[in-house]
Amino acid sequence: MAQGQASLFDEQALAQVTTDPAARIEALRTEIEHHTYLYYAKDAPEISDAAYDSLMRELRELEHQNPHLIDPTSPTQRVGGYVGEQFAPVRHAQRMYSLDNAMDLAELDAWLERVVEFFGHMVDVVCELKIDGSSIALTYEDGRLVRAATRGDGTTGEDVTVNVRTVKDVPLRLRAEGMAGIAAPGAVEVRGEVYMPKASFDFLNKAAEANGKQAFANPRNAAAGSLRQKDAEITAKRDLSTFLYAIADQASLLATTQWELLQWLTDAGFHTNPDVKLCTQAQQVHDFCANALENRANLPYEIDGVVVKVNSFSQQAAMGFTARAPRWAIAFKFPPEEKTTVLQDITVQVGRTGALTPVAELVPVTVAGSTVARATLHNLDEVHRKDVRIGDTVIVRKAGDVIPEVLGPVLSLRPADAAVWQMPQMCPSCGSVVVREDGEAKHHCISIDCPAQAQERLIHWASRGALDIDGMGEEIVGRLVETGRLTDVADYYSLDVTELALLDMGRLNKEGVPIRLGEKTAQKLYDNIMASKNRPFARVLFGLGMRHVGKTTAEVIAAAYPTMEGLRAASVDDLAALEGVGPKIAASIYTFLRTPANVQVIERLEKRGVNMADDVSAAAPAEPAVLDGLTFVLTGSLVESGMTREEAGQRLKALGAKVSGSVSKKTSFVIAGEAAGSKYDKAVKLGVPVLDEAAFLDLLETKTLPPQ
Ligand code: NAD
Repeated sequence: MAQGQASLFDEQALAQVTTDPAARIEALRTEIEHHTYLYYAKDAPEISDAAYDSLMRELRELEHQNPHLIDPTSPTQRVGGYVGEQFAPVRHAQRMYSLDNAMDLAELDAWLERVVEFFGHMVDVVCELKIDGSSIALTYEDGRLVRAATRGDGTTGEDVTVNVRTVKDVPLRLRAEGMAGIAAPGAVEVRGEVYMPKASFDFLNKAAEANGKQAFANPRNAAAGSLRQKDAEITAKRDLSTFLYAIADQASLLATTQWELLQWLTDAGFHTNPDVKLCTQAQQVHDFCANALENRANLPYEIDGVVVKVNSFSQQAAMGFTARAPRWAIAFKFPPEEKTTVLQDITVQVGRTGALTPVAELVPVTVAGSTVARATLHNLDEVHRKDVRIGDTVIVRKAGDVIPEVLGPVLSLRPADAAVWQMPQMCPSCGSVVVREDGEAKHHCISIDCPAQAQERLIHWASRGALDIDGMGEEIVGRLVETGRLTDVADYYSLDVTELALLDMGRLNKEGVPIRLGEKTAQKLYDNIMASKNRPFARVLFGLGMRHVGKTTAEVIAAAYPTMEGLRAASVDDLAALEGVGPKIAASIYTFLRTPANVQVIERLEKRGVNMADDVSAAAPAEPAVLDGLTFVLTGSLVESGMTREEAGQRLKALGAKVSGSVSKKTSFVIAGEAAGSKYDKAVKLGVPVLDEAAFLDLLETKTLPPQ
C-alpha cells in the first residue's frame, strides 16, 4: 500500500492505542523482520499473510504519521526476500520489484485517480490475477533458457536454474513465433510466478504428515520451498507450474504494451494466465475484481488479489517506480480474513440463564469487509488457553459470515504490565456472587433478580425459535424494561396498544421531539403478541429459558408431557428417563418448575391465555413406517370412507410411504376408488398392483400389505 492511504478509521484507531510511536515502531519492525525471515528464508511462516500484512500496514501508517522515524532499513522500505547461501547469487540486470497494495475498492480508486491525474485522462489498464506463488526470472539467450533466478531482495536473487529446468511448463527453448517478436538478438528475461496447484499442495502435505514431516503453511510457501531445494530431483517431483506476465527490459521486445507482451509470452511458449482483461474504465476494473473474488475458490491454484497495470510501456515509463514498487501498477488484495488490532478491554456479558461470557472489546478493525469491535471469548478457560490479556495486540479472524474470533496475541507486542485476566467475583449486572459449578466451563450469576438476565430472558421469549413475537427486538424490549413495563415474560400479555404507541424510544427526531413507537407499529406488535399465545407448548417450554433446555429438548419434553400440569407432576426420574434428557437437565426442569418466582410467572401466563397444553386428541400416535420405500398413486374417489385424496395421502405418508401424482414403472401400488380413470389404465398396462378402497382401508387398519 502506498503511504498515507490507510482509511481514516484505522488512523483513528492507531492514534488511540499508540502513546509511544517510536517504541511501537521499533517493536513492529523487530516482529516483522522475524516473520520475514521465517517466511522467505525458512518457507515456514508462523502467522498468516493477512496478519503479517496487518502488522506491516500499522508500521507504514505510524511511519507516515512520524516521518522523522522513517529508516531505510525498515521493512516498509524494502522488497521482502532472502538470498540463501546454498545457491549462487544472481544480480538482476533490472531490479525486481514488489507491488503496492490496495486493501479495498476505495484504495484501488485512489490509485486509478492518481493515474488519471498523472495523464489528465483515463488510460488503458490490464487486469490480471495475482498468483500466490513465488517470483521467478527466466533468462533466454538466443532462445535458450540459460538462467533462472528467484527475486531475492529485488537486487540479488538465487540461481535456481537446475531446479527450474525440472518445471514442466517452462520452455527450455522459445518457439519460433516468440523469436520473431524479439527486437534485437541477445538475452531476454521474462518474469512471472512459480506456483503449486492446490491439489498438489494437498497431496504433498498429506504425504508429509504421513511421514511425520513438517507440512507447508500454504501453497505459496510450498512453491518457494520446492523451488529452493538443494536437490533438483526433489523439485522435479513437486508438480510446480508457472504463469509468466512480465519482461525485465521492455526494449528487448517489439511489443509496446502489457497486452501485447502477454500475447508474445503465449506465442513464445510460456504458460500465461487466461483470466486477463484490457480495461478502459474504472467500472470494468471493479467488475474484474468482483469476479475474481467470486471465482477464487473454483480456481485450481491460489490467488490473493488482482494486479492492475497501466497498459502502455511508454506510459509505464512515464510513471516510474518508488523504492520498492512500480507506480504504474497496483495489487488489489482481497479482503483479508485476519487482521491485528488491540484488545482494549475484556468485559463480561450476563446471559439469560446467568452465564457469564467474557467479551473482547477491540479497537475497531475492518475484517473481511465488516467492522469488528467485539468478539466472544467464551469462558475463562478459553481466555487463559488463548493467553490474551488487556493491552495485547491480537489477531482477529472473520471469514465470510462466520462470527469474528480472536485467535491469539502477538506476544512480542505485549505491554510489560499486561496481567492475566480473571473472572470478576461479583456479577457485573447485579453484584451477586458468581459461581462456577464443578465440571462447567462457564461461571454463573445465580440471582433470580439479576436485571441483565431478565432482559435477556425477555428477548429470548420473543425470539423466533421461542414465542416468535415479530418486531419485539432488543431495542423495544430495552425501552419497555427501562420504563418499568416489562419485568418478566408474563408482562408482555398485559401491554395494550395505546401504551405501546406512546412508548418513548429514547431518541429525538430532527425537531428535537422524542420519537415514539407510533400507532401502526404498536398495533402490529400487539397483534403479534396476541398471536404468540397460541404457539405449541414446546415453544413455551423453550421460551421459559430453563437451563440446559434447548429447542430440541423442549420438543422431547412436550411430546412426552404435552401439558404444564402433567409436566409439573413428573418426577426427576420420569424426566431423566426421556431420550436425550438425563439427570442434569431433569433436575434443572424440576427445580425451575418449583421455584416460587417461576411458578408465579407461569400462572400469570396461563391466566392471560398463553398456551400451556397441546391438543393431543388431534395428533395420532406415531405410526410404524411399514410402507417405507414404497410409492403410492391415488385415483378415483374413496366413496366408502368419504376420505379426500389429500387425507388418504396423509395417512399413507404417516406409514412412511411416498405419494406421487403419476403412475410409472417405479409405482408400488395404485389405489383406485370409484370412477378411476387413466391412472388405473396405466397401472394395468405397466403391471402395477391395484388396490380397491376396501383393500386400502384394510391396509390402514392392519398396517400390513395384502399378499401379492
Ligand atoms: P506481494 O506478494 O504482495 O506482491 C508482489 C508480488 O506479486 C510480485 O513480486 C509477484 O511475484 C507477484 N505477482 C503475482 N501475480 C502477479 C501478476 N499478475 N503481475 C505482477 N506480479 C504478480 O508482495 P511480496 O513483497 O512478494 O510479498 C509480500 C507477501 O508476503 C505479503 O502477502 C505478505 O503477507 C507475505 N508475507 C507473509 C509473511 C508471514 O509471516 N505470513 C512474512 C513475509 C511476507
